[in-house]
Amino acid sequence: MAKQNTAEILDGILERVKAIDTVNTRKWFDDLTIAAFDHGLMQIQCPDQSCAEFLQDHCQSAFTQAAQAITGHLVSVQFLSSRGSAPKIVVPPPAETANRVRLHPDYTFESFVVGPCNRLAHASCIAVSQNPGMIYNPLFLYGNVGLGKTHLLHAVCHDARKQRPGMAIQFLSCEEFVNGFISAIEKGAVQNFQNQYRTVDVLIIDDVQFLREREQSQEEFFHTFNALYNNRRQIVLTADCAPQDLAALEERLISRFKWGLVARLDAPSYETRIAIVKKKANLRGLNLPDGVAELVAEHIKTNIRELEGALTMIYATAQALGVPITVELARQALGVQEAGTAKHVTMSDIVRTVSDCFDVRVSDIQGKKRSQSIALPRQVCMYLARGLTRHSLEEIGGHLGGRDHATVIHACAKVEQMYKEDAEFRDRIDVLTSRIVPRS
Ligand code: ADP
Ligand code: MG
Repeated sequence: MAKQNTAEILDGILERVKAIDTVNTRKWFDDLTIAAFDHGLMQIQCPDQSCAEFLQDHCQSAFTQAAQAITGHLVSVQFLSSRGSAPKIVVPPPAETANRVRLHPDYTFESFVVGPCNRLAHASCIAVSQNPGMIYNPLFLYGNVGLGKTHLLHAVCHDARKQRPGMAIQFLSCEEFVNGFISAIEKGAVQNFQNQYRTVDVLIIDDVQFLREREQSQEEFFHTFNALYNNRRQIVLTADCAPQDLAALEERLISRFKWGLVARLDAPSYETRIAIVKKKANLRGLNLPDGVAELVAEHIKTNIRELEGALTMIYATAQALGVPITVELARQALGVQEAGTAKHVTMSDIVRTVSDCFDVRVSDIQGKKRSQSIALPRQVCMYLARGLTRHSLEEIGGHLGGRDHATVIHACAKVEQMYKEDAEFRDRIDVLTSRIVPRS
């Protein structure tokens, strides 16, 4: 079939896919080509293996549906990862047979936005992917759900794979490790299981908190860890909390987790959230008009996965209504009101007003003193900042004497309780609020 003809067919297919499958459409779809189209089999060439696997896993039916609609024939679509070879047919090199988890094409270092909340984790992952086993071993990343731990692990794999294609990398979730171990015991194949993990160059295990209360798996993991560590093989682990907080894990494992580098991921600040929304929109080839990323970042503060969900919602709403994305449409899609009170309040507005009402000095509120006469106004500042500004817990704590986010959470809960139970206190807070946010 003529080249121009296949290009036109593909353009038509992509246009339809973008309409049918708003969630999975990516900008790199524009780099796809039709490698062959014969006897009802359409082979689509992808930029790399992870892209081919992504399409196979998520978009097969959208592409098939679109290809049939455009050509008017019964067509079966196949995605090729390198010229002329479909990922299912190709026999991967030994190092890659070990890769249990499919790498997500979106989860690269390039698509990861770096901010104060994740700088150390990001830098250490880059160092590890460039020099596995040499610098930080083990590398232990931890943080709440949705802050980018799994993304960084995929990025390490992408990068390590690119730099040293022959390297044996094992990347799996802790759950898979535990289930694999249990099934190896059942089948009497523990030796095989051990060989599979103890001989790799890089072992990456996501969500090791899953080892809690699984004593035999912990034991197995302990020996795997030692074997790899003693041979200077790289180990990268993630968890939802710091090693010392992994209660119910054996002490000897916890202490090993701390041998290398432990890096925490925090919730992103407003600016980082805006950058993430823009990056995600860019990956999908979406042009967001001014103000949309800001709106999303203002309303979703903690989990980055929810930022993406919001973006999907806006895109899908625009598609469904057949209108372009605007700030108004985004507001409608997210169900948020016209920006009101929260918009222009700053930390210094709050601190100044509270200092005035409680008759304490601004410098004391922002300082280290812990006496009750200062602690309460400081807690009130935290509570008001939480409700009236778009700052993250970390930023609020940072502004008020370098407190951590747990302190801010505690303060907000305490003030909320007092607000509910103490009518006089409630009036005082209401007056304060109305002074900070004058009603128009
Ligand atoms: P975790 O494993 O910590 O629960 P994930 O790695 O699954 O979180 O991240 C959730 C989503 O947020 C993913 O889509 C990921 O790409 C995205 N994400 C998280 N942090 C960032 C970041 N700094 N830049 C871009 N995307 C991010
Ligand atoms: Mg994860």
